[in-house]
Amino acid sequence: MSLKNIYFVANWKMHGSINSSHLVKKIRNFSNKNAKLGKSKIILCVPYLFISLFKNILKNSSIKLGAQNVSNVPEDYGAYTGSISPRMLKDAGIKYIILGHSELREKGENNNSIKKKIGNSVKSNLNIILCVGESYSTYKTKKSIKFIKSQLQVLTKKTIKNTIIAYEPIWSIGTGKIPSEQYLNKTFDYLTQYCKKKYSLKPKILYGGSVNENNINVLKNIYNCSGFLIGGASLKYKSFTNLIKNYYK
Ligand code: PEP
Repeated sequence: MSLKNIYFVANWKMHGSINSSHLVKKIRNFSNKNAKLGKSKIILCVPYLFISLFKNILKNSSIKLGAQNVSNVPEDYGAYTGSISPRMLKDAGIKYIILGHSELREKGENNNSIKKKIGNSVKSNLNIILCVGESYSTYKTKKSIKFIKSQLQVLTKKTIKNTIIAYEPIWSIGTGKIPSEQYLNKTFDYLTQYCKKKYSLKPKILYGGSVNENNINVLKNIYNCSGFLIGGASLKYKSFTNLIKNYYK
């Protein structure tokens, strides 16, 4: 069994309730019992509401908490109704933040705003999980690389150091479809070379899009892949933990 340092990032999206503390306790116990998983990084990106409740449950665990968005204003506090700043997240116990998810880009989130959010979050010492990925028509017309390159323009020499890139083809999210191994290897190679050339560093890159306990056997072969961003399969104990177990089989 490989003890490679692998990220399993759960993106709960708009799911969960106070009762989800049972699920979080079970995942914590699973992680604590499996010493073999000691080198895995399990990160639960949950709705803001549950951060302090889950932080308490996870206090004796290596599992970290993440959030799924943040305000793009530079201030830590201010008259911004309905907003949450990176500083507030940091103080609440958040270590990671998902930015640029396609579900937010679809609602108008753009590179300009994502870049501000990344800069502000890095100032508050948060780690960024930056989602990039193309639509089905971009994929079909073989314009994926050009498209992904445009999404990477939100990064700078400073912010890349705190950033994990999550490659999530939009046509794969929630559809049960995953790209071919060959296509993934090519895309991961592009992302790796891009960062090496532009920033002289080897980036951490996750794959996201319909990852589950069955296809993890194929996905774990992606070259240069540091882990996975997991939506649907992270919402149930069995599907999430079987996926992790199967990675190490
Ligand atoms: C996601 O939206 O980040 C995601 C990976 O979703 P799913 O695993 O459900 O495709």
